[in-house]
Amino acid sequence: MRMIIYRLLSIVLIMDLIAIVYFLSVKYMSGAYAAFTLVATILLAQICLIRCKCGCRPGLRVLVIWTLLLDFELYIADSLLLRRCPNCKRDLQ
Ligand SMILES: [Zn+2]
Repeated sequence: MRMIIYRLLSIVLIMDLIAIVYFLSVKYMSGAYAAFTLVATILLAQICLIRCKCGCRPGLRVLVIWTLLLDFELYIADSLLLRRCPNCKRDLQ
């Protein structure tokens, strides 16, 4: 169940990023700020949502890796395909 919510949040994240681009293009700044806040909330929720039995937070790990590599599309792809804990290789549920 948690993994389904996690994936749904990734999809909402894509739509929210599109909304930011739209708001910025029409110079609707308060809308853009609201969408930015939503992005931060979604990312935080994704980190808190899944936690493996080994104590690792795969959501945080995936986010840190792709933030360092500055590749947001791959973050979304990775979060959609996340199935196993990157630390202990156990299936996440
Ligand atoms: Zn684990």
